[in-house]
Amino acid sequence: MLSVLKHPLADHIITHLRDETTKPATFRSLAYQLTTMLAIEATRDLATEEKTVKTPLEMTQGRVLSVQPIVVVAILRAGVSMVQPFLDVFPDVSVGYVGLERDHVTAVARNYYCKLPPLEGRRVFVVDPMLATGGSASQALEVVKRNGAAAPGLVCIVAAPEGVEEIHKHHPGTAIHVGVLDRGLNSRRYILPGLGDFGDRLYGT
Ligand code: URA
Repeated sequence: MLSVLKHPLADHIITHLRDETTKPATFRSLAYQLTTMLAIEATRDLATEEKTVKTPLEMTQGRVLSVQPIVVVAILRAGVSMVQPFLDVFPDVSVGYVGLERDHVTAVARNYYCKLPPLEGRRVFVVDPMLATGGSASQALEVVKRNGAAAPGLVCIVAAPEGVEEIHKHHPGTAIHVGVLDRGLNSRRYILPGLGDFGDRLYGT
């Protein structure tokens, strides 16, 4: 399942993220806003239950979130930028990290770090801003599944069709939430039109 944000604010933010003249401080703040929108969208199907409350005027029936622990697993390094927006929306989220480094020549990801909270019975989201070849995301999904995640979701800011296909091939049924679906990859496996190297744009490297 692929879900793409449809909102004028998302379009506005993505266009400014793409703009090469956008400075790192603005880039970070825009990425933060877009991830907040994605966090809300990706959790659209969270379970709720009835609750009766008394307003200053009368009793009324409402709904509140059922207890359902959420875990966000960030792929280092750029995925770290997507953690805090999830924590803003759901303060009790637990956070894990998977270190996967993309070789700039082969585009193959190497797993150099893994620190995860318990994942069994929890709602797990892997976060990584750029879904390019899908290699890192696929590997991270593999890692979280091996550690007990039942049906982890994937949340990205920009995706290439090649990456979406790779995830659906290796992890059928995975819910992928993206800000925008781009045209494809260039010969160096960068997303087009994309926004360049997300980590470099974030941190000015
Ligand atoms: N990672 C990035 O940061 N940008 C791309 O275009 C592809 C992968």
